[in-house]
Amino acid sequence: MHEFAFAYDIFKVAEATAIKHGAKRITEVLLEIGELTLIVPDLLRRSFEMATAGSIAEGAYLNIQVLPGKIKCRECNKISSVTLSEESQLTGNQLFRCQHCESPNTEIIDGKKANVKNIKIE
Ligand SMILES: [Zn+2]
Repeated sequence: MHEFAFAYDIFKVAEATAIKHGAKRITEVLLEIGELTLIVPDLLRRSFEMATAGSIAEGAYLNIQVLPGKIKCRECNKISSVTLSEESQLTGNQLFRCQHCESPNTEIIDGKKANVKNIKIE
């Protein structure tokens, strides 16, 4: 996912919520990001700074919580937690083996989503 476009989306969600509550300033945005979204937190923070410059969210702290990825095995139906290897971060290749039976026949069920969980306003 492109960090800047995503940072802008976060800002728009936070801004809409802040306006609805009559806030003057957004001080913090709590964000949940699935590990498998391939979003780089440092890049996202910088993009967020750029996206919010001159807005009511300028200077807001971006609190990023990374949620682990989960896969479900099609062979044994068990669920495993997975993290991205350096290789898959570079190649975008996300194939995971079941941690119970070693089968590569798995599907990703969690870790692909990102959303604004909460914001702090003044
Ligand atoms: Zn399995």
